[in-house]
Amino acid sequence: MVPRSLVPYTCAADLRHPNVCSRVHLEMTEQMFELARRTFDTPEFRGITCIEVEARSVINKVPGGMPFDRTINPYRGCTHACVYCFARPTHTYLDMDAGRDFETKIVVKVNAPEVLARELASRRWKGEHIAMGTGTDPYQRVEGRYRLMRGILSALIARRNPFSILTKGTLILRDIDLLTEAASVATISAAFSIGMMDEDVWRKT
Ligand code: SF4
Repeated sequence: MVPRSLVPYTCAADLRHPNVCSRVHLEMTEQMFELARRTFDTPEFRGITCIEVEARSVINKVPGGMPFDRTINPYRGCTHACVYCFARPTHTYLDMDAGRDFETKIVVKVNAPEVLARELASRRWKGEHIAMGTGTDPYQRVEGRYRLMRGILSALIARRNPFSILTKGTLILRDIDLLTEAASVATISAAFSIGMMDEDVWRKT
């Protein structure tokens, strides 16, 4: 039961049409309810506001034309802040801008692992492949604090559900134990997007 006082948000699942207004997306998107805003004053997170939300659903259905049709994005916005990121316009669906807001105001679906476990257990779920890292990076810096991916991976392992991860984040190495376990029970893959050749810089970003 979501308290009435919490603020509802909607967000887009269809990244193929990022400029379509939020009203159009309302029917096909998840609803999220804001729990808290936290701005951290540590060197690692300085200037970043985490908007903690409770999501009603986390598995997005992506209409045809993509190599996958189900995605999970535990975060909205991305601190990697790539200038070319095609997901930037999705922040405008949340009444934030696609520039600095996308890079510094990160929506955190704090209940993502629990909601995913429930969705995977549904009779309607057929075990489809789930892609992660298609909208925002699941291993961006705030994942170090919230650790949502460990719960998400555990839920997928429990159901032997196939999945793939695309990331720029070296934090994925933290979960190598779960990824190894997942590979023994399901078809999975992990791909890296490497934005620079300097390994020291890569590991710090
Ligand atoms: S890492 Fe991916 S999701 Fe994050 S800003 Fe860069 S392109 Fe966008």
